[in-house]
Amino acid sequence: MKTFFNLIQEVQKPGLCHHCGGCVTFCTAINYGALELDETGRPRYADIEKCIECGICHSICPEVNELDEELKRQFAWSAPIGRVIETTVARAKDPEVLAHATDGGVVTALLLHLLDMGRIDGAIVSRRVGRFRRWPWLALTREEIIDAAGFHFDTMHGMTHFSKVYSSLYTTFSPSIIELGEVAKKRLNRVAFVGTPCQINTLRRMEVMGIVPSGTIKYHFGLFCTGNFHFGPEQRQKLEQVGGFQWDDVAKVNVKENLMIHLKNKEIINISLEKLDFIKRYACHYCDDYAAEYADISFGGIGSPEGWTTVITRSPLGRAVLADSKSSDIEIFDYKQNPSFAGDALAKVIEWSEKKKRYAEVKHAELAKKSIRVLG
Ligand SMILES: Cc1cc2nc3c(=O)[nH]c(=O)nc-3n(C[C@H](O)[C@H](O)[C@H](O)COP(=O)(O)OP(=O)(O)OC[C@H]3O[C@@H](n4cnc5c(N)ncnc54)[C@H](O)[C@@H]3O)c2cc1C
Ligand code: SF4
Ligand code: SF4
Ligand code: SF4
Repeated sequence: MKTFFNLIQEVQKPGLCHHCGGCVTFCTAINYGALELDETGRPRYADIEKCIECGICHSICPEVNELDEELKRQFAWSAPIGRVIETTVARAKDPEVLAHATDGGVVTALLLHLLDMGRIDGAIVSRRVGRFRRWPWLALTREEIIDAAGFHFDTMHGMTHFSKVYSSLYTTFSPSIIELGEVAKKRLNRVAFVGTPCQINTLRRMEVMGIVPSGTIKYHFGLFCTGNFHFGPEQRQKLEQVGGFQWDDVAKVNVKENLMIHLKNKEIINISLEKLDFIKRYACHYCDDYAAEYADISFGGIGSPEGWTTVITRSPLGRAVLADSKSSDIEIFDYKQNPSFAGDALAKVIEWSEKKKRYAEVKHAELAKKSIRVLG
């Protein structure tokens, strides 16, 4: 039976761990203190003696391909980007949601819709803490869901979990899976989860294995992702130079085909993603899921006009939520303005997904060569 010891060898040492937190959150012996996150968010043994060698942490890790075939079968995955039922370009109707949103506010509008209809008790989202960081949050009210929308630099909440040094690092990643601990503590059993493709992948692996409390997540909302950016003061300065801006002038950041820095004076600075390798998290170079291929609904800005969200429904549940919210909370892009809007958006998502898969394949091949050289 492979255990966390093998995850250290196979995933952490080659640098493939992307800190999703799945192994720690679902460790069978978590209540006895077998695993913990270190001050940088990386899982480690808290007490190796407490590990009962059940192997669950190893099986659910998205960097281990043990459950890949089962995952594909259960979620009707098909090439090139997983199951696609429908692609839509949409935005929230509520002006307050639009004002807070990253793109068209569809994620927030759907969460509010589900809460209003009594279909969820809350949602695991991510809000800003400190100047340059986001942190997972179990939002239980309309106000809390709206507060977590977007990627703005105007509101912030206390930083409680990590050291001062770490909170000064900027990262677009938020280890949202660990918030499932709060869901269990509050005895909630119907929540929505918003996260990156790797996090959705971990959750689906738990679902395949029937691990409690994966059943409490009723809706999996995935965000498109080219990578997670991670940088401290030095890299922040370099980014200011590359983009010709100052962080104090930034109102919001967003990622589409470029990193988009929205300034307070409404100017938008676009920085090519290719120029950002120096801040891309190492593990993200090996990731091949751009479009959250196992989500109920996937969302991104790519392929849509500014202020709109590209929405891909992937499961009957996802399609039902979107259909249900169309008359009340969501506005669909007028097809008369662009009859091929949905097809064009999907083509863009496929293009970026394929690019990411090709790149990950090359990086994995390089890594495999390096390991052979080390062994030889
Ligand atoms: C790390 C990262 C990389 C991304 N890369 C791309 C990309 O390359 N191309 C692209 O088209 N789109 C990308 N997106 C998605 C895009 O930024 C928007 O989140 C998406 O278009 C939804 O917009 P919206 O206005 O409908 O969402 P909103 O209504 O603004 O809601 C966004 C929701 O996401 C949650 N959230 C924000 N940040 C995180 C996080 N780090 N982890 C988990 N949840 C979070 C918020 O709490 C909120 O609930 C990325 C998102 C993230 C977090
Ligand atoms: S108890 Fe199981 S899940 Fe926890 S560290 Fe050990 S092998 Fe992994
Ligand atoms: S489950 Fe997530 S946090 Fe744990 S080793 Fe794998 S990638 Fe890292
Ligand atoms: S690229 Fe995105 S989905 Fe992939 S590991 Fe990095 S944060 Fe996760």
